[in-house]
Order: sequence, then structure tokens, then C-alpha cells
Amino acid sequence: MPAIWVYSEDVTITQQLLALGRNLADNMQTQLCAFTLNGESATSLIASGADKVVSLQGNSQWPESYAQSLADLAKQERPEAVFIGATQRGKDLAAKVAAIIKTGLVTEAFAVRIADGAIETDRIMYGGLAICTEILTAPAIVTIPARTYEAISPDPNRTGEIVTMDVKTDDRVSVSNVCPIIREGADISIADKLVCVGRGLAKQEDMRLVEDLAVALGAEIGCTRGIAEDYHWLPNDRYIGLSGQKIKPSLYISLGISGQVQHVSGIRDSKIIVAIDMNENAPIFEAADYGIVGDLYEISPLLTEAIKQAVK
Ligand SMILES: Cc1cc2nc3c(=O)[nH]c(=O)nc-3n(C[C@H](O)[C@H](O)[C@H](O)COP(=O)(O)OP(=O)(O)OC[C@H]3O[C@@H](n4cnc5c(N)ncnc54)[C@H](O)[C@@H]3O)c2cc1C
Repeated sequence: MPAIWVYSEDVTITQQLLALGRNLADNMQTQLCAFTLNGESATSLIASGADKVVSLQGNSQWPESYAQSLADLAKQERPEAVFIGATQRGKDLAAKVAAIIKTGLVTEAFAVRIADGAIETDRIMYGGLAICTEILTAPAIVTIPARTYEAISPDPNRTGEIVTMDVKTDDRVSVSNVCPIIREGADISIADKLVCVGRGLAKQEDMRLVEDLAVALGAEIGCTRGIAEDYHWLPNDRYIGLSGQKIKPSLYISLGISGQVQHVSGIRDSKIIVAIDMNENAPIFEAADYGIVGDLYEISPLLTEAIKQAVK
């Protein structure tokens, strides 16, 4: 029976993929199968919606080394679709599996649904200028960014099948050293509130205006690419957009950001977008729920003060 498969090396993302998979599998009356390289996570994956968990046991700890094994299994079992978390390693694995089995790969889908009995996906293209809808033919490979779906509450009473499978890994590449990325401060991709600054800010010393507003709101600080890559006023992991971080906060406030498509493509999933810019024709206002046309040097301190008063 063609099933829905999910995989991520990050258990939290696998649980999010299971929420999507559960919905599709119920709709298509098929089985939902999670793959893991970490056998210890198997029971939690059953609790989060999997009917079956396959724990792949090989000599490598790197997901991409399992591409051939996963592809062989997919050729044999022909799942309807394989959903893989769009982490760096997940994207690498997905591309390899799709190439080996010569099937289509949808990258970074933000919506998946069933239409006329087939699975349909949406993804952003041309830097956010268009949405590409694709109809999948089995077995299709789809990568899904973290937090696109919310995991269902785990049910410890759920039962399912757990299978351990010894597989051959591709050991041609060995990793001799791992250097973790050292983040300066919080991970903005998971921040609940963000104050973002653009080139409307004239000098680095003026960052204190942004910091004051962020502190009053309990928000993290993000920026546009120029602020990080050209001016170096903030680290590179703080810039948002097509080539930067994708964010999903409940509140995003921009200060002096024009709203070019490359930036806006990273903020689309924000619940509420508030834009402050001097130029009433700035494209950021088209993306915003609330807009203030004016000088950030006047508005930001007023806003900070008003928030401080409101939370007193
Ligand atoms: C391939 C590619 C990938 C890219 N990826 C990214 C990406 O991931 N993220 C990203 O951010 N950019 C990215 N860019 C760059 C992007 O195209 C824009 O150049 C950038 O987002 C603009 O940044 P900005 O809004 O800070 O600056 P600007 O476009 O210069 O806008 C500054 C804004 O500040 C306003 N302003 C000026 N003074 C004040 C004031 N006193 N008060 C209020 N408003 C004021 C102006 O009216 C203007 O709207 C990419 C570009 C390319 C080509």
C-alpha cells in the first residue's frame, strides 16, 4: 500500500511533518511512516501520529549518507510522497534521493493539500514574486521548512509498529571535525516578536533606538541584508529574507526598511506586520497590516515610551 513517508534528523521537525502526514494519510486512507536515524525517538514519533517508525541503522551519523538506502526503499515501496525537513542536511538528502530514483523534488513547500485525489504543493518562486503550485506523482520528494506545520499533541497511548533496519551507508565522505555555529544572541527564526531595522537608520550609534524599542516590547532584533553584510552593524544571522533567515513571529515591526521582495519573502509568515518608513510609496506598506509614514527617529522613541506606559 503506497504510504506517506516523513523524515528529519531533527525530531521536533519530524513531529511537525507527522501532523501534515497524518492529515494526508487519513485523507488518502493510507499508512504514515516516519524514518529516523535515532531509534530512541521511535516511541515519541508513534505518539505524534506515525503508524510505523523505521529506525535506519548504519555506520554513519550523517543523514545524507543514507540517501542510497532511502532511495532503494522508495523504489521498492513506492510511497505516495516523502516529506523531508528542509534543514541543510535534509535538503542535501532530499536532492540525492530524488536524483537516484529520478523523481521530482519540490523544495521548501509552504502548503500541501489533496486536490482531485492527488497531492498538491505550493512553493515560492522568483524570490517571492510568484507561487508555484505542483501536482505530485508518486513517489515525489518534498522538503518542508521547520514550523510550517504545528505538531499534534503527543498521545502516549497511541500504538504503532517499530522496525529496525540495518542499511548500508555511503562512507566515502568522513567528517573529521565539527565546529558548531556560534550564534551571537537568540535564534531570530523562532522569535515571537521582532524589531527589524533597515538602511533608514543613519548611524550605528542610533541602534540604541532600535534596542530601546526591542527591550520595551521584549522583542529580538533583526535587519535587512545591507545592515549585516555591508555595514556589519549586526551579525549575518540577524538578517531576514530570501538569502537570510525566514521568520514567523506574532509581531514584526520594521524601521526604515523599503520592503524589497528579497526581504519581504522572509517575513511573509509573520502574524502582524507593522511598518514605519518615511516614504509613503515604500513597498513595505503593501505587505504591512499597519503602517506609519514618518521619520523613525521621531516615531520609534514615541512608540517605545507608549509601550512602556502601557505595560506599567
Ligand atoms: C539575490 C539577492 C538576494 C537578496 N537577499 C536579501 C535578503 O535575504 N534580505 C534582505 O533584506 N535583502 C536582500 N537583498 C537586498 C534587497 O534587494 C534590498 O536591497 C534590501 O532589502 C534593502 O534594504 P533596506 O530596506 O534596509 O534599504 P533600502 O531599500 O535602502 O530602504 C531604506 C528605507 O528607509 C527609509 N528611510 C530612510 N530614512 C528614514 C527615516 N529617517 N525614517 C524612516 N524611514 C527612513 C527609506 O524611505 C527606505 O524605504 C537581496 C538582493 C539580491 C539581489
